[in-house]
Amino acid sequence: AALASLETPEAQDAPERGLFDLTGRMCLVTGSSRGIGNVIARGLADAGATVVLNGVDPGRLAAARENLAATHGDRIHARAFDVTDQGAVADAVAAIEAELGPVGVLVNNAGIQHREPLLDVSVEDWNRVLTTDLTSAFLVGREVARSMIARGRGKIINIASVQADLARPSIGPYTAAKGGLRNLTRAMTAEWAGAGLQINAIAPGYIHTEMTQPLVDDPEFNAFILRRTPAARWGATRDLVGPAVWLASDGSDFVNGQVIFVDGGMTVIV
Ligand code: NDP
Repeated sequence: AALASLETPEAQDAPERGLFDLTGRMCLVTGSSRGIGNVIARGLADAGATVVLNGVDPGRLAAARENLAATHGDRIHARAFDVTDQGAVADAVAAIEAELGPVGVLVNNAGIQHREPLLDVSVEDWNRVLTTDLTSAFLVGREVARSMIARGRGKIINIASVQADLARPSIGPYTAAKGGLRNLTRAMTAEWAGAGLQINAIAPGYIHTEMTQPLVDDPEFNAFILRRTPAARWGATRDLVGPAVWLASDGSDFVNGQVIFVDGGMTVIV
């Protein structure tokens, strides 16, 4: 009895559940019609979760849902909405929770890049990157946090970047947004950890996706990445799955406000 009183609330509710078992957990992954978000969504579903996919392009999203439903059946859902649109976000979260129950895990993954020297960046491009990569996490995070706080549990995983910690030329707005996302993770922790939520970030290094295909195709940049990464390779989308499943699971219940770098060691060398 003395030991049981030291168990987490979640473990007391479902003592038979495995630490990394996501069965019955409802996960919303923004920007999961392709790329990193899509592979994380698949990984969460593999661990037993019910998953809501998201993107802006309805055709691409429907195809992604069909693809994942082929292996994971009716646990896969999809909802198209723009993560930068406050009204659309509120409507979407309300509809998802009415239909499927409260969101247990939110992965704030939707994001864009804009490559240009700061002297040339228009305020429109600056705002587009900041709203998509930073404000979106505030908007969607706040919307799901309401029911999480009411239930006394929930996980938010913000997909940041090594750019949250390191700067490079010609990617200024993105670097500013990802640094902000890193600190938003801490701000959410300061306000919501006491209510039983865990908010953490994953900071991927250079991962081979559509977003980075032009960099992979650039021989000079490709050589730079291989030289600059102790693991001497590009990351694969599947490299993000383990950390995401762990942060979505009871296995991370005492991990609060952290940034987990998944970068092949890039941020530990000069
Ligand atoms: P992709 O460009 O491959 O995919 C982006 C996804 O985000 C798509 O599903 C897209 O939907 C969605 N999206 C974009 N804008 C919006 C919006 N306004 N509302 C809703 N969904 C939107 O990107 P990656 O998979 O490469 O990147 C995913 C995340 O990981 C981003 O936050 C990125 O910054 C981060 N990251 C990526 C790294 C990399 O090396 N690739 C490294 C570090 C971090 P649609 O299909 O409808 O366009």
